[in-house]
Amino acid sequence: MAHTEPSKLDLSAAAATNESAIVDSDSVPAGEHDSRSIVPSTVPSHHRAPSGAPSGPVATAPNQYPKYIEHLTRLADARPSSPYLNPIDYDGLSWPSVGARERLESSVEEKAAREKRIADAVRTLLTELGEDPNRSGLLETPERYARAMLFFTKGYEDNVKDVIKNALFEEDHDEMVIVKDIDVFSLCEHHLVPFYGKIHIGYIPNSRVIGLSKLARLAEMFARRLQVQERLTKQVAMALWELLQPQGVAVVMEASHMCMVMRGVQKPGSSTTTSCMLGRFREAQRTREEFLSLLKK
Ligand SMILES: [Zn+2]
Repeated sequence: MAHTEPSKLDLSAAAATNESAIVDSDSVPAGEHDSRSIVPSTVPSHHRAPSGAPSGPVATAPNQYPKYIEHLTRLADARPSSPYLNPIDYDGLSWPSVGARERLESSVEEKAAREKRIADAVRTLLTELGEDPNRSGLLETPERYARAMLFFTKGYEDNVKDVIKNALFEEDHDEMVIVKDIDVFSLCEHHLVPFYGKIHIGYIPNSRVIGLSKLARLAEMFARRLQVQERLTKQVAMALWELLQPQGVAVVMEASHMCMVMRGVQKPGSSTTTSCMLGRFREAQRTREEFLSLLKK
């Protein structure tokens, strides 16, 4: 599962060739996305990076060259077509969109402006719902909601490297490790309402172990984003698989979806279970059964 780390250097090299094909990040077939040679041939020739840059005819368009590099960087930063292609990408953000990077890198002023834009949108929403956003009870609701929403999705600003930090240890241990009942709160990406429940994580080390509290932090990082339960489960499993290179990883999540419960599609109290089994948990039925029986205890 090793992957190469694309760098800005690769990009300028690609820009200098002038020959690469268009690569639309959405249409790249799985498996081919790593060859990030992203130079759209539709870019007008005067926008193109001169060959042999920067000694080429930069003088004719002094301001366009950096802009073009920025454009290329953007494209390269666009999220891969699948969240499972690189479970942990080169900066550890794990399937961020361009917007997530913008959010992460924004200044204090930009953060305030973002909050205000969200609040303005909520004011529109309140009006459209038939409310008066100027009545006293609702006066500060848009700002409150904006802050709450940013909190509910703060996982976009987390990256695996910070989350895990120095908590990987070489340890001669090869027995199953399980952390059960990690509380998880997430937002369904189809309705923007919560789904919440418990996540259970197990793994069988291959001489590398992780600080136990980090399992909860990892789940939190992926949960505090717009999600579907299936992807959340799989992202946690795949990130661990990559971090620990263990003999096996198992993740099970049970959650109640408010979009189902509140609309009467699902009975209150019922829950949805998803699981992702990798390595020995997938291959060996006995190992899987041992894990599942330990969850019931
Ligand atoms: Zn939903």
